[in-house]
Amino acid sequence: MDDINVKLVEYYHYDQLKRLHSLEILELGIEENEIIQRIHRDFLDEKATEIVDRFYLKLWKHEEFKAFLKDPQQLARLKITQNKYLHELGIACETEHYFEGRLRVGLVHARIGLPLTLYISAYHLLFTIMLDSIPKAIREQRELYQRMLKVLSALITLDTTLAVEAYHFTEIGHLKNTVDNLLDEHTQLKHQAHYDALTGLFNHERILLHLNMALSDLPNDHALCVVMADLDHFKRVNDNYGHLMGDAVLRGISSRLRATMRGFDYIGRYGGEEFLIILQNTDLEEGEEIAERLRSQVEQSPFHHNNTSIPITVSLGLTHYHPGDTVENMIQRADEALYQAKAAGRNRVTIIP
Ligand code: GH3
Ligand code: MG
Ligand code: MG
Repeated sequence: MDDINVKLVEYYHYDQLKRLHSLEILELGIEENEIIQRIHRDFLDEKATEIVDRFYLKLWKHEEFKAFLKDPQQLARLKITQNKYLHELGIACETEHYFEGRLRVGLVHARIGLPLTLYISAYHLLFTIMLDSIPKAIREQRELYQRMLKVLSALITLDTTLAVEAYHFTEIGHLKNTVDNLLDEHTQLKHQAHYDALTGLFNHERILLHLNMALSDLPNDHALCVVMADLDHFKRVNDNYGHLMGDAVLRGISSRLRATMRGFDYIGRYGGEEFLIILQNTDLEEGEEIAERLRSQVEQSPFHHNNTSIPITVSLGLTHYHPGDTVENMIQRADEALYQAKAAGRNRVTIIP
């Protein structure tokens, strides 16, 4: 939640109706406007600077506030804001502008880390200093004095409630950020749990799980092929071009294999430079075609390093599902077929039906 770009009055739905209702609860009606004008005319505007100075002197006595007032520039800024705040107190308090301004005062204090409890205590201090500064001549006019007290107290309460809302806004912002971060982390962890970090293919556990799922409840006449593929002499790639280049080749080969397969086939990184491929609804003949296509795709698209071409080939062992086969059986046969492909000279598909 970016509070700079958010209109707080909108966020809290302070439309005209809600604003008037807030004022009504505090008994701040049209008639009180006249008292507000008198408060400003009779003492507040004239004494604002003095009130602000006394206010910060009082705050300075308390360790809790000192941390926020240490910096002289910051203090000067706070005094200016506070002065403005007093000069505007209650003026056109029914407007959107007034509510937004008051909400923002709370937000600024929440942002600098002033605890809400201190903020409210400080407001109380400010209020008592304001009361103190009411001239004797007014105090002696009992009715006027009481009306002023009532209005001042209502205005301070309005400001405080708006500030509390703004504090919540910041809290909600923090909470939202935390939730967003947790969700991101969760998505990331979920991804890490299923996919291999280097190649983006399913990881060892996940591809085995897919094979397990594919084999469970499989009708006896079901066609399914498993391919074990291993890059040929891959150690040489690392030895000749470095491990980083080896990684890049692994990534490239992975995406080429993936792109050559059909959408419903599964491929996972079984180990270092070894891939397990599950071809569903595929008989042996079709499985051989696909394995051959994978082999030739790898052979035909060499990698390049400093203008030299790095030939890469892959050996593949292919097997087909037999009724009663387990994951272990099928992998064992595919592995054996792969071993035979290597022994026969590599860069080929060998089948153990
Ligand atoms: P073969 O044709 O018999 O399979 O020979 P090979 O060199 O491919 O087989 P070997 O098992 O001797 O070596 C596998 C190599 O793959 C060695 C290992 O460093 C490399 N390798 C495994 N995982 C990674 C990886 O994540 N990154 C890189 N760069 N290399 C890897
Ligand atoms: Mg190898
Ligand atoms: Mg290997």
